[in-house]
Amino acid sequence: MTVINEQTHDSDLPLLNTPIISLGGEGIRIRGGHCESCGQLHYPYCTHCMRCGQQVSPVYFDPAGKVYSFTTVQTKAPYGLPEPYTVGYIELNENGLRVFGLFAPEVSGDIEIGTEVVISLQALGLDGQQQPCLRPVFTVANDKEST
Ligand SMILES: [Zn+2]
Repeated sequence: MTVINEQTHDSDLPLLNTPIISLGGEGIRIRGGHCESCGQLHYPYCTHCMRCGQQVSPVYFDPAGKVYSFTTVQTKAPYGLPEPYTVGYIELNENGLRVFGLFAPEVSGDIEIGTEVVISLQALGLDGQQQPCLRPVFTVANDKEST
C-alpha cells in the first residue's frame, strides 16, 4: 500500500498519511482501482477484484461529488478534531462510487443530501503522532472557486 506524505504549496504542515488520495499535477485525486478483466471500478483501492478475483490496477478519480448521506457525531472527537464533527458519504460525479470522509467544520451546517462537494486539504486535527496535519475534508463545491 502506498503511503502518501507530501507537502503542499500553501502550508508547511505534513499531509495526513492516507492511501485514499493522491497529490499530483492535477491536484487532489482519489485513489481507487480498475479491474482490467471485468471493468469493475473500486473504491477504496484493493489488490484483487471483489467481483471476479482478478488483479486490480490503481486509478485516480476526480474529487467532485454530491452528498449521499451524512451524520453529525456528538461524542468526543478523535485526533483533536473539533466537536461536534460531521462525517458521511459522497457519491463521485465521475463514476458514482461512494467515498466516506469528514466534512470541513465550516460547512457542517450547510450541507444536505445532494449538495455538490469537493475534497480539499485543510489544517485540521492531529495525525497518528499527535502532530498538526493537513487532512482531506469535504467542502461545498462553490467554496473552491473563491480560494
Ligand atoms: Zn473484475
